[in-house]
Amino acid sequence: MKKILEAILNGATSEQIAALPLPDTYRAAHVLKSDEKMWEGVATQDRDPRKSIHIGDVPMPEIAPDEAVIAVMASSINFNTVWTSIFDPVSTFGPMARLGRESEWAKRHDRDYQVIGSDASGVVLRVGSAIRNWKPGDKVTVHCNHVDDQDPSSHSDSMMGANQRIWGYETNFGGLADVAIVKANQLMPKPAHLTWEEAAVSALCNSTSYRMLVSPNGANMKQGDVVLIWGASGGIGAYAVQYVLNGGGIPIGVVSSPEKAAILREMGCEAVIDRKAANYQFWKEDGTHNEAEWRRLGGDIRKLVGEDPDIVFEHPGRSTFAASVFVVKKGGTVVTCAATSGFMVEFDNRYFWMRLKKLIGSHFANYKEAYEANRLIAKGMIHPVMSQVFTLDQVGEAAYQVHNNLHEGKLAVLCLAPEEGLGVDDPELRAKVADKLTWFRR
Ligand code: NDP
Repeated sequence: MKKILEAILNGATSEQIAALPLPDTYRAAHVLKSDEKMWEGVATQDRDPRKSIHIGDVPMPEIAPDEAVIAVMASSINFNTVWTSIFDPVSTFGPMARLGRESEWAKRHDRDYQVIGSDASGVVLRVGSAIRNWKPGDKVTVHCNHVDDQDPSSHSDSMMGANQRIWGYETNFGGLADVAIVKANQLMPKPAHLTWEEAAVSALCNSTSYRMLVSPNGANMKQGDVVLIWGASGGIGAYAVQYVLNGGGIPIGVVSSPEKAAILREMGCEAVIDRKAANYQFWKEDGTHNEAEWRRLGGDIRKLVGEDPDIVFEHPGRSTFAASVFVVKKGGTVVTCAATSGFMVEFDNRYFWMRLKKLIGSHFANYKEAYEANRLIAKGMIHPVMSQVFTLDQVGEAAYQVHNNLHEGKLAVLCLAPEEGLGVDDPELRAKVADKLTWFRR
């Protein structure tokens, strides 16, 4: 890998990069099938990613005709890194075994280890024989929608594909490694004004928020919409805030500390609720709902912006879902992509049907949506929300921070990049947006 890295840092040509031999093994953050049962009897919150994420060499797989090998300069931690490492709600070896039964090439994914990670920025090292649009040396970011493009159900909206999967979560050969194997239709141009680590943190969360709010497949937000955003300084929330502001909407950001509230204000989000200070108790101790507390949240929203939300950007799940359904405006939309606090949600259906509300399930983004979201980053209209940078050896610690909500925004991971700050090709655009690139830096 040393020669490959030297070539990249020295600006080698496409031909020079294509001529470099690939290593037989590469360094990767991975989980082991033999650890699958290690957390049995341990509460979800007490499961420690530092104990289940291993860093070590794994074999280099052969690539399929529609795939590319990427030298990963940087990657990022997503919440799915946490889910994989705590084997909850399911072990990801199940989905990979099912994938392995789909084709000869897919068999490669079904191994006794899984290289994790669903984001990457880097350089194309090799392309399979069927690839037309990319070549060795191209600087790229990678989105995580792993789609079988020979499946008719993948066309019109590839998130509808019968066997659509999330790369590095439901597949092997993910991005938290020195090398990643991806399908050509996961590739997007690297935003030229960003460093490798800044370019690595956005694709998963940014694309998810784009689909949830901007795309007609999601809430299809319009100018003036009031949008309540849970976890507004977290991974997806911090991109959601930017989309609402860019689209002429009015964000109300919910966070859990004065420090996080200060970040939101710096981003231009004027209406902020500190849920810890407000101490909402949406659930009573006996496990029933506390409607008075939904009303208190609704009252706080009205005090801040004078009206009810047109859209609620929902992902905490069980703890907040009923409140989200209650506070959204008559005819408004709750759009959800997750359930961090529990997926068996309950809400009072009377407030839902009598007030003609809508509920939209959303999951990642199709290639077009991810490409549009990446384009907005490349134009300096949406900004990466990176707060800290870790090394590949520290992936367990970084995932621990996300699992315990000790972080803000996105945590980047340097893979091949030897230090922070490399990879900028457009210093002029960088200078124009410089103040926005430090919103989350501590
Ligand atoms: P982060 O941990 O970065 O942010 C989530 C934020 O939600 C937290 O920082 C916290 O903010 C808030 N939160 C957590 N628990 C609660 C709770 N019980 N009540 C209210 N707020 C809560 O995670 P991400 O933003 O990256 O991801 C959020 C969720 O979305 C995860 O479950 C993830 O798996 C999922 N996801 C789904 C995707 C999809 O395609 N379906 C794509 C990306 C993410 P604070 O404490 O400041 O309020």
